[in-house]
Amino acid sequence: TDDIGDNGRAVRERLGAKNARSQQLTSQTRELMNMGSAASLEMPFPVLIEKGEGPYLWDVDGNEYIDFQIGFGSLILGHRHPLVRAAIDDQANQRGWQFGLHNPNQVGVAEQLVGADNCVERVIFCNSGTEATMYAIRAGRAFTGKPKLAMFDGAYHGAHDYGIGRPDPTSPRDAPEYLPTGAGVPPAVVENQLMLPYRSERAFDIIRDNAGELAMVMIEPAQSSNPHRNAEVGEFLHGLLAVCRENNVLLMFDEVITGFRFAFGGAQEYYGIQPDLATYGKVIGGGLPVGAVGGRADIMRLFNAMAEGDPKGIMSGGTFSGNPLTMAAGYAQVKHLNDNRQSIYPQIDELGARLARQVNDFARGENMAVQMLNAGSMFQLYFQSEVIRSARDINPARTPAETDFYLHLLDNGVLIPGTRRSFVSAAHSEETIDAAAAIIQRSLGLVREDGLL
Ligand code: PMP
Repeated sequence: TDDIGDNGRAVRERLGAKNARSQQLTSQTRELMNMGSAASLEMPFPVLIEKGEGPYLWDVDGNEYIDFQIGFGSLILGHRHPLVRAAIDDQANQRGWQFGLHNPNQVGVAEQLVGADNCVERVIFCNSGTEATMYAIRAGRAFTGKPKLAMFDGAYHGAHDYGIGRPDPTSPRDAPEYLPTGAGVPPAVVENQLMLPYRSERAFDIIRDNAGELAMVMIEPAQSSNPHRNAEVGEFLHGLLAVCRENNVLLMFDEVITGFRFAFGGAQEYYGIQPDLATYGKVIGGGLPVGAVGGRADIMRLFNAMAEGDPKGIMSGGTFSGNPLTMAAGYAQVKHLNDNRQSIYPQIDELGARLARQVNDFARGENMAVQMLNAGSMFQLYFQSEVIRSARDINPARTPAETDFYLHLLDNGVLIPGTRRSFVSAAHSEETIDAAAAIIQRSLGLVREDGLL
């Protein structure tokens, strides 16, 4: 069509020509699989990835990318880090990958979780962040004997019924009305979900008003939909904990992303705060499927209490929970982070800030409605100039400028997933970041030339 411009037409042609195998496989997967956004990452153009190394990916047609998807943030040391690879090799070649009984690396990972500066006194392992929040929610309800659960607008806590939600767009910003995300969530769940306004003290009033029925509040200490990490968010988290304590409501931090990323002790260490429960995933599995719940010993004991006939005891299970391959990879990654925490965390934080600085300076200088938010090593790019304080400020529509930008980015060798949630790893260097910033700037320039930005 006419309105995409010369650069837009050219990039579509080039991508088509250099991604023959990706296109062929994609047409097959469309017939065979219904994976939703997980399959395509909502990419503007389908590419299937065959190989990763350090901060780079290669697709099935041999095209190379600087990767900011980085295993949804799980590969904090980059692809195929030698220590993680050695642990996986050793486990697979010498020992075995599934026993269904405890294995020694579980102890190692649990010790790292308990030893970090966080609320974790006891741990259970599961296979995803989704399972982790599911169990934490059950524990919160069992411990308090109350039914309701509160989450903040803009949050994501996993794909199960209780982890998803969005504010009714017609509801006031300070009193968001909970709506399930998508169909199939029964009314019994909806009735017990509360939505709180993120970074607003009105949330504290809603907690007070519902204290009698509210078991637990859960929060991402930095929302992946709008990654902010600053003193004001810290104060909000401390205020939230105080209100929860006063009202006999549990507070759970969902550290599936921020755990072992914001600091070795996650956002809890970063902000100097200890909630009652915390959930983990991603980084603690070294890039293999994982989840964990940790927290106060008196709450965590409920996971063992059914066997003792305690009526508050809760059910948990999982064929692959704490499996030996994941635990070997996870232990190698987490131990390396612990041994190098003094260098790795400042390094990845600075790299995230460096990328955001370069992109934001450029966009400001060129007067483009584009901004990058970063919370240390986690970042996201937005095609709007309005200040984003919470997810309510985000323009939900994907503009033609944004679509074309991602096509140019891909063509020029940077992979930012269509989900837009992006991460820097310790395998990225200043050089890779600067190269990526130059490609981002070049791609923005091409979109501007077409008159879309
Ligand atoms: N909680 C948060 C904060 C997350 O970001 C995610 C996934 N990105 C989850 C839970 C769910 O984790 P998983 O995809 O491993 O199920």
